[in-house]
Amino acid sequence: MVPSLSPIRSHHVAVIGAGAAGLVAARELRREGHSVVVFERQKQVGGTWIYTDHVEPDPLSVDPTRSVVHSSVYGSLRTNLPRECMGYRDFPFVGRSDSRDPRRFPSHGEVLAYLQDFAKEFGIEEMIRFETAVVRVAPAEKCDGGEGIGKWRIESTENEKRVRRDEIYDAVIVCNGHYIEPRLAEIPGISSWPGKEMHSHNYRIPEPFKDQVVVLIGNSASAVDISRDIAAFAKEVHVACRSNAADMFIKQSGYSNLWMHSMIERAHDDGSVVFQNGKTILVDVIMHCTGYKYHFPFLETNGSLTVDDNRVGPLYKDVFPPAFAPWLSFIGIPWKVVPFPLFELQSKWIAGVLSGRIMLPSKEDMMKDINSFYATLEAQRIPKRYTHQMGIAQFEYNNWLASQCGCSGTEEWRKEMYLTTGVRKRAHPETYRDEWEDHHLVSQAYQDFSFYTH
Ligand code: FAD
Repeated sequence: MVPSLSPIRSHHVAVIGAGAAGLVAARELRREGHSVVVFERQKQVGGTWIYTDHVEPDPLSVDPTRSVVHSSVYGSLRTNLPRECMGYRDFPFVGRSDSRDPRRFPSHGEVLAYLQDFAKEFGIEEMIRFETAVVRVAPAEKCDGGEGIGKWRIESTENEKRVRRDEIYDAVIVCNGHYIEPRLAEIPGISSWPGKEMHSHNYRIPEPFKDQVVVLIGNSASAVDISRDIAAFAKEVHVACRSNAADMFIKQSGYSNLWMHSMIERAHDDGSVVFQNGKTILVDVIMHCTGYKYHFPFLETNGSLTVDDNRVGPLYKDVFPPAFAPWLSFIGIPWKVVPFPLFELQSKWIAGVLSGRIMLPSKEDMMKDINSFYATLEAQRIPKRYTHQMGIAQFEYNNWLASQCGCSGTEEWRKEMYLTTGVRKRAHPETYRDEWEDHHLVSQAYQDFSFYTH
């Protein structure tokens, strides 16, 4: 940590979003002495964990004028991380006496209840303006990260546009979530293919796929779960994946109607789909489980910050754009991570930097750091769209953040639990949520938790 000698300063900070990222950001900012307003366009906290039966009218979610349904959670969804590993560090995600679902890998409703408990415990709701959407964020004055204070103009609309506000804040923290703007696979011939296309963002329950032939594209956690969900009702389910070998064609063991393929080669106007492995199938539905794009429709930075092939940049340590640091920051950009504890550390860092307790390098040094990171990716031929993928690197990142904040890094049990869960998930996608061997890690976690839960 680089301590500052300047006095601690309190700022007026806007947080956009009251999901897992925005909630912990609000808590850390207030702990540090800042005044905080959280803008949340939904009626309650929880972000993507607020399950709804509703889906968007455009099943591919490409129409920019569509009314957005925020949640991407489907009915059967259970967490893909064990609850001990998943929770914020100082508010453990333990089963409570009134838990709806005490399982280690609980359903989405239990995660929502946990986030609601977190908001209640730390009195966060009083900082939130619900049903208030941020529609524009732009610099109000020159933001200079040196001695000066950046100012941001925030325009928001409340309650179906009945109230429109235009306000000035010292700093803005963007926590708007990154699972609403779908990425789609490119399929030759798709424009004349007569079947139904959709994105997993708009998947909720399997019953509508009864007796249908469905192709899912992707190999993410969602594709694995949804293919199994749908196989219980559909006539046939075929999973196509770019990373599979070109000749792959395997029946999934334990299923009579689920096959793994290589990628789709072409779709035809007679309703058929041809895979790279040479198989041709008549298909009713193609579902893209192909992930999402970062999207900040409200943000005006005059080109200082861009999203290019899903690289949000330039961002110092995935958080601060040097041109506006520290007055603009982002929480939750890294993926393939354990999100909540990472959000917590990013929040502590931002709060401390804003108060002047923690120093950032100069703009030039931040840019050097970013450019050398980009050069490393390029040398390894890693495409831009993987810039924010962390995986195992998240632990070094978390420890770096912790060292800046003067707190402890990732617990060894949490790291091991994440890694062993990953291995079991890949080997046993059907059973990893109900059968495990890492009992010793669970015991270590609960030993740590006793500090917070007694
Ligand atoms: P969100 O939860 O999306 O919250 C963003 C908030 O910002 C929303 O409430 C939204 O309404 C609000 N907002 C957006 N734009 C505006 C605006 N302009 N004005 C005002 N408010 C706005 N993580 C795990 O740890 N374990 C799991 O098992 C797991 N499973 C997942 C399964 C699926 C299908 C998905 C999609 C994600 C999963 N995740 C999981 C990751 C999950 O996204 C994170 O855990 C976390 O909830 C993300 O929080 P967030 O605050 O960044 O975003």
